[in-house]
Amino acid sequence: MGDKSLMNTYGDRAATLVGGEGAWLYDEKGKKYLDALSGIAVCGLGHSHPQLSSAIADQASTLIHCSNFFSIPSQQQLAEKLCHISGMTNVFFSNSGAEANEAAIKIARLHGNKKGIQLPTVLVMDNAFHGRTLATLTASGSRKIQAGFEPLVRGFARGPFNDIEALRTIAENNSDICAIFVEPIQGEGGIHLAESAYLKQLRDLCDELDWLLMFDEVQTGNGRTGKYFYHQHSGVQPDVVTTAKGLGNGMPIGACLADGDAAHLMQPGNHGSTFGGNPLACSVALKVVELLESGDIYQRATAIGDIIMQGLALELKDVAHVKEIRGCGCMIGIELTKPCKSLYTEALKHGLIINVTADSVVRLLPPMIMTDQEAQQVVSILAPLIRDFQ
Ligand SMILES: *Cc1c(COP(=O)(O)O)cnc(C)c1O
Repeated sequence: MGDKSLMNTYGDRAATLVGGEGAWLYDEKGKKYLDALSGIAVCGLGHSHPQLSSAIADQASTLIHCSNFFSIPSQQQLAEKLCHISGMTNVFFSNSGAEANEAAIKIARLHGNKKGIQLPTVLVMDNAFHGRTLATLTASGSRKIQAGFEPLVRGFARGPFNDIEALRTIAENNSDICAIFVEPIQGEGGIHLAESAYLKQLRDLCDELDWLLMFDEVQTGNGRTGKYFYHQHSGVQPDVVTTAKGLGNGMPIGACLADGDAAHLMQPGNHGSTFGGNPLACSVALKVVELLESGDIYQRATAIGDIIMQGLALELKDVAHVKEIRGCGCMIGIELTKPCKSLYTEALKHGLIINVTADSVVRLLPPMIMTDQEAQQVVSILAPLIRDFQ
């Protein structure tokens, strides 16, 4: 239809959504959908949140943009708040996850070059997803994402996820490595959780070798797993952590946070962004973070996740083609033994929005404001679709 004028990066769309409220979306014909995807982990506080709508309206009628040549109070307040929550000391604001990750990779390069390394190299994981810019698609561990975009960027090495011994072997054979970059839960890769012990081992390895430990929490951050950042469950403190998706609840904003020496590598002229950290994005994100920190959102994220995971486990316990149900809070994967892309359109027909990633993993990223009843509804719509899936 009207998609003719768009580059065909997303293929055919299955529905046209024109409005939303809370955990519900509706299309141009007025059909309602229960949202178990949150616009890919973005709208964690749901749609048309009244306090966010008024934060947008207030700031839009005051000052939308003025450039980073000037101090921006909401940018400073947001940075302070994120530092307070995370224990990091300094923030760079971007407009997306990939850009937050570019900032992290540039910090790693500064660290490596400062150490006198010839070809500063960032160690990334099999199956990783870090974005679609040239550096971040190189860092991603999927040939599908890279194919056709060669030459890839130099300065990346790759190892297996959740396998510290393999990384130690790689470290012994590559003295150019200066940082590890890892998603503490691989999202696009199929909801694979890093073990707490593994995150601690990564910290130890980085301390031993003077590498930066960098976490990509673009998807896992902003309360989704029941804490502001997923790594906070393990108590491991990274040198750099990035986030984006849920930070603006739909207002485009990303952040790269750093601690210790890593926080002071960037100097005037090293990096920048015209839009990054503008008054509109920051005042809305500040409201998002206040809402996340003030109520019972983290407990709700955990409770909703438990209802959905336990409900699905019960309903699907004897289903041979269900391989595993795993996740943390509002980040859930149901892995089947076969590709299951068509479950997405099946679910849409039944008024439920889900996603399928890594070919055979149903991914749920429900908004954290769901009621218990809505979470149960996700189970009651989805379980029969998975059970009967051929
Ligand atoms: C979505 C995602 C990105 C990319 O974010 P964009 O905003 O699409 O650039 C990077 N890393 C992870 C872990 C993601 O989930």
